[in-house]
Amino acid sequence: MAMRNAETRGLVLFSRNYKEKDKLVKVFTESFGKRMFFVKNFARSRFASSLQPFTALSLTGLMNEAGFSFIDDLSDTEHFSHIAEDIFINAHASYIIALADAAVPDNEYDPALYGFLIKSLELMNQGLDMEIITNIFELQVLSRFGVSLNLSECVFCHKTTGPFDFSYKYSACLCPDHYHEDPRRSHLDPNVLYLCGQFQEISLADLEKISVSDLMKGKIRTFLDGIYEEYVGLNLKAKKFLDGMAGWADVMK
Ligand SMILES: [Zn+2]
Repeated sequence: MAMRNAETRGLVLFSRNYKEKDKLVKVFTESFGKRMFFVKNFARSRFASSLQPFTALSLTGLMNEAGFSFIDDLSDTEHFSHIAEDIFINAHASYIIALADAAVPDNEYDPALYGFLIKSLELMNQGLDMEIITNIFELQVLSRFGVSLNLSECVFCHKTTGPFDFSYKYSACLCPDHYHEDPRRSHLDPNVLYLCGQFQEISLADLEKISVSDLMKGKIRTFLDGIYEEYVGLNLKAKKFLDGMAGWADVMK
């Protein structure tokens, strides 16, 4: 059912050209899920300056269940300028935005995911640890892809104190007494699973208490790439860009 004069907060996900002068702008709305908005004659539209990437805003418009939705008015624009200007933060933010876009179907009401994405971007914009925010986002959004991993106990004896290793065979953790159950276990640094277990539970508000070395970040990155490849199987351009960037980040140090 179409809904007129609908009001909601929203985050601009991306836009793309449509026909000669128009644009389609995808917005993750708090109240109506992700919607594609048609903006006619974009360059001359009074909405053009607000509908930039990394922008949250209040939106009033016509929400259609099928096809495009339409904007009547925009206000209370909040632009995450630090994200937009810093190529490294930009790349991390673009990746979690792409993940959020892939994690739920369009038009599906998911204010929790919306709020989590906004909070993650706010913290990146404030300059908090972009890599750790990205890891927390990746771990906590896994359930939206139908993936549930218990990283805090051994799948055989349910012991909850590590060290643990991860087994793809059981999609679960093993304690040293049960390492033998999977000869092809991952041989992870146990701290990787300890930290990822924490990241599954943590509130972003507690982020400032976390400090992780670059070496450990690299190990977590490798582990989560394996998890996403095995259980999620996305092929996101934003992730490829982020991976490529890791190489020239070292050069610029
Ligand atoms: Zn065990």
